[in-house]
Amino acid sequence: MKKIRNFCIIAHIDHGKSTLADRLLEFTKTVTQREMQAQLLDNMDLERERGITIKSHAIQMTYLYQGEEYILNLIDTPGHVDFSYEVSRSIAACEGALLLVDASQGTEAQTISNLYLAINHDLVIIPVLNKVDLPGARPEEIKDEMVDLLDCNREDIIPASGKEGIGIKEILDAIIERVPAPKGDPEAPLQALIFDSVFNSYRGIEVIFRVKNGSIRKGDRVKFMATGKEYIADEIGTLGLSQIPKQVVECGDVGYLISGIKVAKEVKVGDTFTHINRPASEAIVGFSEVKPMVFAGIYPVDTTEFEELREAMEKLQLNDAALVWEPETSAALGFGFRCGFLGMLHMEIVQERLEREFDMTVITTVPSVQFRITNTKDQLLNISAPSEMPEPNHIKSIEEPFINAQIITKSDYIGPILNLCMDKRGILKNQVYLTSERVELQFQMPLAEVVFDFFDKLKTISKGYASLDYDLAGYQESDMVKLDVMLNGEAVDALSAIVHRSKSYEWGKKLCEKLRELIPRQMFEIAIQAAIGQKIIARETVKAMRKDVLAKCYGGDISRKRKLLEKQKKGKKRMRQVGNVEIPQEAFMAVLKIN
Ligand code: GDP
Ligand code: MG
Repeated sequence: MKKIRNFCIIAHIDHGKSTLADRLLEFTKTVTQREMQAQLLDNMDLERERGITIKSHAIQMTYLYQGEEYILNLIDTPGHVDFSYEVSRSIAACEGALLLVDASQGTEAQTISNLYLAINHDLVIIPVLNKVDLPGARPEEIKDEMVDLLDCNREDIIPASGKEGIGIKEILDAIIERVPAPKGDPEAPLQALIFDSVFNSYRGIEVIFRVKNGSIRKGDRVKFMATGKEYIADEIGTLGLSQIPKQVVECGDVGYLISGIKVAKEVKVGDTFTHINRPASEAIVGFSEVKPMVFAGIYPVDTTEFEELREAMEKLQLNDAALVWEPETSAALGFGFRCGFLGMLHMEIVQERLEREFDMTVITTVPSVQFRITNTKDQLLNISAPSEMPEPNHIKSIEEPFINAQIITKSDYIGPILNLCMDKRGILKNQVYLTSERVELQFQMPLAEVVFDFFDKLKTISKGYASLDYDLAGYQESDMVKLDVMLNGEAVDALSAIVHRSKSYEWGKKLCEKLRELIPRQMFEIAIQAAIGQKIIARETVKAMRKDVLAKCYGGDISRKRKLLEKQKKGKKRMRQVGNVEIPQEAFMAVLKIN
C-alpha cells in the first residue's frame, strides 16, 4: 500500500488533460507508441469528436522511482457540469490531484470549482503550468495567478507541455513525493467505493472501484450497500490499457469488478460495496442519487417507429444510469417518451446516440426543468412538462430550481455579462478580482434560464473569454405561466413552454416570429398564435406557397432542381405532420433560439 498513488487530473476544458494523460501513459510504458492513439482515454467516438471526457475511467501505470516500483492509478474525471457528481466521486477515490492550468488562458471556472472539490476531499494539489510551449504562453503572469489561488510556493509549480512532452518526469516524481500513500486498514472489513461503471454488451456492467479498507478476492460474495443487492465477484482485476484479471485487489488500490450485472441502474456511482460474510458497519460517506435536472419529450419522427424507439431507449438505459424515461403521449406528436437528463449536454448526447447507434430519427421537444406546484387543494406536484401544468386558477404557488453560478471572465466583459445575467433573472451575489484583469462573478439565477441558450450567449458576448460553472441552490417561488402555441387555431402541446410571467408577452411575440421563419410555406396559409390561458398575445402568418415559386423550380436548370429536391428530402427526415401542418424539428426547439 505504501507504493500506491491514486491521483486525478483536474483542469478546465481544453487545458490539456487528455493530452497530458497520454504522455504519462507513454512515459511509464503503459502503452507503446504503436498503441497510442491521440487522446486514448476518450474512447467513445462521441467523446473524441467533441473533445471532452464524458465518462470517467481509471488506468494503472507502474513507475520506477529511485529503484523502487510504484503503482500509479490515474483516475479520469468528466469535464462538464452535467456530470459534477461523478467528478466528486472520482475525486473521493484519490489522494492527490494534478491541477493543470493553460499557460495562455489562466484559471477558468472549472479550474476553480474542481479545485474546491479536491480541497474539500483533502487532496494534495500539484500545480502544473501546462502548454508552456505555446507562443502566447504567459508563464510568469499565470504562475502569479496560481500562487494566489493555491497559496502555494512558486517553486512548487511544474512547467509542462503535454504536447511537447515537457515536465513529464517531474510530474511523475512529484506524484510519488507529494501525494501520500493510501491510508485505509487492510485487515478491516471491506469497503470499496464505486466511482464509475462501464457498460460491456458481452460481459455486463463493469464496476470501477477504489478499495478504502480491507481487500477483495475473486469469488467473494459482496453486497452493494445503497441498493442492498448481492453479487459474486466473478472477475476482479486492475485496469491497464485493458483489464488485467487478478486474484485479489488490495487495500488502497483501484480495480474493476464483473459479476453479471446487466443493468446500469443497479450500479450507483458513490455506492459502497462490502463482504456479505464480514460486512462493514457503514458505507463510505458522500453517496447521493443523481437526479435528472432537465426534461424533454422524445418522439419518433415516423409514428410507426414507436416500438423501435422504446427498444432503443431500453438499450441506452442499460449503459446510461442517469437517463430516466417514461412513456408520454402528446396530442400533436402521438406516442413518445418523457425523458430526464442531467443537463443539456446529456440530452444532446442521448439524442445523438439514438441516431447513431440505433438509427432512429427523433424529435425532441422544448426542455424544461422541474417545477414544484402547490395546488389549491394544498397538494405538492412535481411538474416537468408544460402539459402537466394545472389550470391557473388551481395553482396556489409555483417554485422553480435556482443555481449558484460562477463565471470567470476578463474585466472588459463584466458589463455585458451583468446585463445578460440580469436579463436571465439573475442576482449578482459576489464579485472577486482574481488578478487585475480577471474577475469571478457569482450569481444566483433560475436553472430554467441556463437550460435555454445561456451558455451560448455567454460565450458570444465574452468572445469566448468567460467560463461557467454552477451548482444547485434549491427551490424558490416564481411567477411562472404556461405559454401555449396554436397553429390554425389548434393548440400544439409540444410547442408549449413554461416561462416567467414578466417575459411571457415578449416570448410569445418572439416565439411566433421564430416559428414563422422556421415553418416552411405550405399549400395553405398557417396562422401562428401564442396564448396564455384564453388570451391570445401574439400572432404571425405563414403565407401559402406561391404557384410561381414551384413553377420556377421545375422550369429551372436541372442541377438546381436536383439540389432543391435533395434539400427537401433531407428536410423531410425531421418533419412532423401535426394536424395538416408540417413542422420541422427546429420549430420544436424554437423557444431556445429566441433572443
Ligand atoms: P482536455 O479538454 O483538458 O482533455 O484537453 P485536450 O488534451 O483535449 O487538449 C485540448 C487542446 O489543446 C488540443 O487541441 C490539444 O492538442 C491542445 N494541447 C494539449 N496540450 C497541449 C500543450 O501542452 N501544448 C499545446 N500547444 N497544445 C496542447
Ligand atoms: Mg479531455
